[in-house]
Amino acid sequence: MKAVRLESIGSMTMRNVENPVARPGELLVRVLAAGICGSDRHMYKGEYPTARPVTLGHEFCGIVEDVGDDVTGFAGGELVTVDPNIACGRCYACTRGRPNLCEGLIAIGVTRDGGFADYVAVPCAQAFTLPADLNPVHGAFCEPLACCLHAIDKAGIHPGDSVAILGGGVIGLLMVQLARLAGASEVILLTRQLTRRQTALHLGATHAFDPTASDAVAAVRDVTHGGADVVIECAGVPETMQTGLRMARRGGTFVLFGVTPAGVEVPVLPFDLLVNEIDIRPAYLNPFTHSRAAAMVASGALELDLLVTRTIGLEEVAGVVGSAPLPGEIKVIVRP
Ligand code: NAP
Ligand code: ZN
Repeated sequence: MKAVRLESIGSMTMRNVENPVARPGELLVRVLAAGICGSDRHMYKGEYPTARPVTLGHEFCGIVEDVGDDVTGFAGGELVTVDPNIACGRCYACTRGRPNLCEGLIAIGVTRDGGFADYVAVPCAQAFTLPADLNPVHGAFCEPLACCLHAIDKAGIHPGDSVAILGGGVIGLLMVQLARLAGASEVILLTRQLTRRQTALHLGATHAFDPTASDAVAAVRDVTHGGADVVIECAGVPETMQTGLRMARRGGTFVLFGVTPAGVEVPVLPFDLLVNEIDIRPAYLNPFTHSRAAAMVASGALELDLLVTRTIGLEEVAGVVGSAPLPGEIKVIVRP
């Protein structure tokens, strides 16, 4: 079969490799759709630790082609989405119900072979069945959506709240939809590119601002009459961390979701955070949210087609992961 292998930092190649096999407890999945994620670019550049060589691809959906020994609940032929994050189940964090903080986390498409390939073998406990007639491209959104759901859980949005979202990539545009579904009365997206702002308004944002064109903090405070009840940072840059904290209402919640490169420091004003009781809540990965993401995608509650800006074959993956996103690019989907 064909697989796109990260062989060393900055070197990724499509190769012919042996088909994986479903070992005991595993499923062999034929990949139908896989999403390219910003993290894949970080892994390519060596900014996020991976095994090497390894097949990347942690957002994927496919058909169960073979079932290993000791597997129950799958017969073969099911359409599945796979939670790539395999927690050890035994460490302190795992035994306290926080598998995203597992000390021995293994991730499919990061530390073991993933979905930029014709086939991938996965532990059956990581797989969740989708309706057989679901568009597999939609199924590939379950992984990023599951991370967003953890953030939305932490955000604690109440109906009638105002929500400001910074960063209009695929994550910000999923958050817009989730905030709306959670009952937010104002949903404000801040992102520089006009096309993303237009898409956000189409997806249910009530306002979309360019953070560089005007005083973004004042604009958000104006629309929300004093600050957003909830701010969700989905850009991962120091400026949005700083401005986002200033967009929150007194007593408001700030969800830290974007990944700023390790080692980057951001100056903040602890006095202001204290006297305004800004509640800072980081949301990392997808603890216990993948099956809910699968249910949401299956229900058709989200607009996903608008988020797919390009569909490519395996032969193009290395080129796309190895270069910066094109202007206007939201999600690139790989169809092996
Ligand atoms: P993305 O496509 O890179 O989107 C981020 C967007 O932020 C950019 O496209 C950019 O849009 C915008 N941005 C950059 N600088 C900005 C600025 N100064 N002000 C306002 N907007 C700015 O990434 P994504 O896939 O949507 O992911 C978003 C973030 O979430 C990333 O940092 C990713 O690593 C992180 N993430 C976290 C988790 C988790 O578990 N916590 C899971 C998945 C992803 P414009 O060019 O329009 O400004
Ligand atoms: Zn663990």
